[in-house]
Amino acid sequence: MATHKVGGEVDAPCTRCKLTLAHTILAMVGPKIARVRCNTCGGDHVYRSAPGTTDRPTAAARSASSASRSSTSSRAEKPEKVVISFEEQLSGKDIANAPKYSPKDTYRVDQVIQHPTFGLGLVTIVRGDKVDIVFKSETKTLVHGRGGGPTQERPAFSPPSARLAGPADKPQPLSAAEDVPATQPASAPSED
Ligand SMILES: [Zn+2]
Repeated sequence: MATHKVGGEVDAPCTRCKLTLAHTILAMVGPKIARVRCNTCGGDHVYRSAPGTTDRPTAAARSASSASRSSTSSRAEKPEKVVISFEEQLSGKDIANAPKYSPKDTYRVDQVIQHPTFGLGLVTIVRGDKVDIVFKSETKTLVHGRGGGPTQERPAFSPPSARLAGPADKPQPLSAAEDVPATQPASAPSED
């Protein structure tokens, strides 16, 4: 077992470099290293033993990583995830009549569209005015339903007066009251 002394070198995790690096021992308390200086960045900090030498955190991390590893492997074994090729996804769809993509049109799930840049695409998700479209090389989120005409299903905006008339008087004093005690403890304990 190597004995450390002030001025000697020890491998320790550097808080700044976020790496286990050679450190010069600056101070020792009995047989324990108390303070070190990173040979890489020159920063002084309290000595922390290198990962692997401490029992508890390593054991916990080891069990956690093994647990996550086993869960991912078991997930991979499940035959749920079936990779369907782009051609297979489009098979049976009305490709010949696929409309040209336009942000002004409104699309629906499973619709095939023709994009001037990305080519044939299959609408997989519709979220409000956005659609996720799977193209041969990638999935793109595009806008749709931006016609601006009377075809829009949703009203443009709910009038702001509706919000003010409602529960506006209740949440405001609550959040204001929460702000006050939150700022107090921050300035109170200054015993150093
Ligand atoms: Zn460092």
